[in-house]
Amino acid sequence: MTRDIYKELGVRTVINAAGTYTMVGGSRMSEETLEAMVSAARNHVVIKELQQKVHERLASITRNEAAFVTNGAAAALHIAGASSIAKKYGRPYPSLSPEQIAKSEIIVHRAHRNPYDWSLRLLNCRIAEIGFPNMILPTTEDDLEYAITENTAAVFYFFMPPGGWVAKGALSLEATISVASRHGIPVIVDAAAQVPPAETLWKITAMGAEACIFSGGKDLRGPQASGLMVGKKEFFSWVERTAFPTYGVGRMFKVGREEIVGLLAAVEQYVSMDGQERLQWAEDRIASAARAFDGSTMVSVERIYPNEAGQPFPQMAFRFNIPGCSEEVLRHLREGDPSIFTMAADGESVFVNPMTLRDHELDAIVERVKEIETVFLK
Ligand SMILES: *Cc1c(COP(=O)(O)O)cnc(C)c1O
Repeated sequence: MTRDIYKELGVRTVINAAGTYTMVGGSRMSEETLEAMVSAARNHVVIKELQQKVHERLASITRNEAAFVTNGAAAALHIAGASSIAKKYGRPYPSLSPEQIAKSEIIVHRAHRNPYDWSLRLLNCRIAEIGFPNMILPTTEDDLEYAITENTAAVFYFFMPPGGWVAKGALSLEATISVASRHGIPVIVDAAAQVPPAETLWKITAMGAEACIFSGGKDLRGPQASGLMVGKKEFFSWVERTAFPTYGVGRMFKVGREEIVGLLAAVEQYVSMDGQERLQWAEDRIASAARAFDGSTMVSVERIYPNEAGQPFPQMAFRFNIPGCSEEVLRHLREGDPSIFTMAADGESVFVNPMTLRDHELDAIVERVKEIETVFLK
């Protein structure tokens, strides 16, 4: 493929040094995944038949009873929420009255509130909050127990290991599942960015969560507009009756055959990847970047582990010896050629996450930091 669509459009490409940030396109699909998508696009199929085959394979390779491909993790959250309300009434979601939906409750820790939970808020059910987003009075099992009523449809749980940006104060996932399952209430887990490690694909549901949700467009390296939901067969029978291609709420979250097939290809590659070898590659690259600034009075390289999403994967921060200069560094990175996109780590350093980078891009970043160093030393 020689066509350069971005050049034709006059849109510059950027080196993504930030990690799997959606605002720069998350991750990059492999050629193998792209090929699967192109092949899917060429012919028509009956979507339900394709879904059945793909979901069975996804369930099997992620060691789950069931799986479902959506058009993003945020969409999957909405579908899972709607499915839990349908399950509570034992009726298809579109057959429920606004009043029935409005009085349904999804329990959420205040420590787990985040901008992605609009997916639940838009269900127009009640969000029943528990606990506080700090450690003054950590949430107890009783707090969850008392919040469960005859209207409770689900407990939402935001899974992010320590070191990530989640607030403290919530119950552990184990305790949450143990209380909820005593009442027959499904636990829906948002683990959108929690691969690596690949084991998260089966560990959370093995603990007893009904559904665990992942973004297809982050480290799984599937299509940007894809999401993966895995979990228990009984719960997924409600998901299948709620999600695309069912009319109703699922129809707004159309997932194409290209995404369905692309995500399968990506997950197949992900679970067979040697995570240890990739980790070692990242460590080596960070060590070599650090060596490149040995003896510098202006720049040092700091290894950061886990990364800001709490993933057990190292990233680095280029730390400059000028207080508060990170915005200027970001500007130098962004405005150079090639343009380098990343985030400020703090007032004087910027993150470089190897996760989305290739060797030659890492070389280009080190080279650019050297140039910025020269500018600052003048
Ligand atoms: C990225 C992310 C999402 C949304 O994922 P999409 O696949 O982009 O819809 C939801 N929750 C969390 C915690 C995320 O990091």
